[in-house]
Amino acid sequence: MVATLLSIFSLLNRNMADPRAEPTFLAVKPDGVQRGLVGEIISRFRKLGYQLVAGKFVWPSKDLLHDHYAELSSKPFFPGLIEYMSSGPVFAMVWEGTDVVSVGRKTIGATNPRKSPIGTIRGDLAIDVGRNICYGSESVGTAEREIALWFTTDEVASYDLARRIGFIK
Ligand code: ADP
Repeated sequence: MVATLLSIFSLLNRNMADPRAEPTFLAVKPDGVQRGLVGEIISRFRKLGYQLVAGKFVWPSKDLLHDHYAELSSKPFFPGLIEYMSSGPVFAMVWEGTDVVSVGRKTIGATNPRKSPIGTIRGDLAIDVGRNICYGSESVGTAEREIALWFTTDEVASYDLARRIGFIK
């Protein structure tokens, strides 16, 4: 009984402290993994104040990638995209925090790295649209769908940081 009340209080307290917290799906693509950039990308999100709640290497099947990129299936670059994304392991992650979907997209930068501002991950670390290092969900809705596609519920941890930063008061 006491434990139940404490866990409900902890959930309520967490939501009150950070009412706009949301999850997003991020992935370091095969070229980012091969170039040793997993740590750099984790570091950028952690330094912003976001919380890593799931992470694993996945060598994605073409079926998984067809689901993930279903909306792009009619694009001329689609077959090349599937080949590239299935060419090696991806580091898949779930991050949580205030507006992490939109801030995550800004942090990653534009699809074409050469048009992505300096300071963004793609603008700083890549030059080729077909090898643009990392992915981040486009909206809260796609984030939910993608997290369910890449992770099981058991793989996503629920924990409080000792000191949460970056939330809107
Ligand atoms: P983003 O990854 O920025 O959300 P899109 O969803 O439009 O971009 O495209 C998915 C991925 O497809 C891009 O990250 C990139 O790897 C690849 N892509 C997009 N446009 C092109 C293109 N013109 N040529 C080659 N690859 C492309």
